[in-house]
Amino acid sequence: MSSKKKQISQLLHSDPSSPIEHGSLHQPIHTSVAYGYAESRDIASVFQGKSSGYSYGRASNPTVAALERKITLLEDGISSCCFSSGMAAISATMLTLLQSGDHLISSSFLFGNTNSFFNTLTTFGIEVTFVDATDVKNIEEAIQANTKAVFVETIANPRTQVSDLANIGDLCEQKRLLYIVDNTLTTPALFQPKKVKAGLVINSLTKYIGGHGNALGGAVTETGFFDWAQYSNIYDTYKKGDVNTWGILQIRKKGLRDMGATLSAEAAHHLAIGAETLSFRIKQSSSNAMKLAQFFNGHPMINQVFYPGLANHPGHTLATDLFSNYSSLMSIELNDSIDCFDFLNKLQLVITASNLGDNRTLAIPVAHTIFYEMGAERRASMGISEGLIRLSIGIEDSEDLLNDFRLALD
Ligand SMILES: *Cc1c(COP(=O)(O)O)cnc(C)c1O
Repeated sequence: MSSKKKQISQLLHSDPSSPIEHGSLHQPIHTSVAYGYAESRDIASVFQGKSSGYSYGRASNPTVAALERKITLLEDGISSCCFSSGMAAISATMLTLLQSGDHLISSSFLFGNTNSFFNTLTTFGIEVTFVDATDVKNIEEAIQANTKAVFVETIANPRTQVSDLANIGDLCEQKRLLYIVDNTLTTPALFQPKKVKAGLVINSLTKYIGGHGNALGGAVTETGFFDWAQYSNIYDTYKKGDVNTWGILQIRKKGLRDMGATLSAEAAHHLAIGAETLSFRIKQSSSNAMKLAQFFNGHPMINQVFYPGLANHPGHTLATDLFSNYSSLMSIELNDSIDCFDFLNKLQLVITASNLGDNRTLAIPVAHTIFYEMGAERRASMGISEGLIRLSIGIEDSEDLLNDFRLALD
């Protein structure tokens, strides 16, 4: 039998893997911006990448590095690079690895700000094609001679479409395209995109991994799957060492160091504490979500429920095959006779708030808030109706949540 410890055990014991002052069980919050070297030659060798060490806080920090090790562990990857938010991780990755004249294929079912950012990319001469990623056929049809990468989310927010993840992975492998998967909604507790041949994995740490809604952060993880030797946008300077790490090295240098969206040590500490209980929180919130989805399904005041755990969801089989649970994000479309604001005002326990993946159950009217800026036409193309409410289910007692919704709907 293998003596390799289970992931959760490795995660909980990863900080003191090298000795920490006073036997501390947590990596301390290192606030120093600079690091002094008694032997002056050492600082040169750190700058030249010949030895590991810290030079300047924008580029690296020991508290952030401890969190990066945990994310890498969770994703079963090779290396991770953290950023000040999920959007910073996405934008730095794209701006680092794509150049003017390149083409990106993206799922059209996207987090609103990612959608907005991909539109910004087009103003820099990067072509973007948005396709329905629930079927690999649409990705295949969009491939051009200058296509460099494919970007999808596992479960899309808010309508919970499930991407055709494994088939897209096979296609990207065959066509030698960089496959980037945003794993925020599923988290590595439910799904590791490496299993479907993703080359890079994005996580917004702000959401489930942090879990407590008290810190922003994002991460990019290199899985080791993609062959960077045949990727034309890697600068010669970063073609050194293990070829599996060229991509993340370029993201770290060009994206993090040069663009500067650095995660603070304080935030990294909060997020690392959150990550310790990720698998337990996800179990409870997913179980709550399933009970609520079953309650909403067929309720006379609700037109439609979007939750991959329901057998009538178009992505149910895909989600069952790929994920160890259906996550805890769902959307409900209220009966036309109900004003969504009146309904939200009736909820006592559930909070009207943005964010998802919080320990508390949060609700938001989608068309009027997070998807407002894109306009009615693009909303309609994404299947976002005016009465759609997104629910991020928390870890409260399921009976209390059921009662809250029951009373509000009555
Ligand atoms: C929230 C979110 C992001 C962005 O993360 P921030 O930490 O808020 O910047 C990206 N992708 C998905 C799927 C998200 O839900």
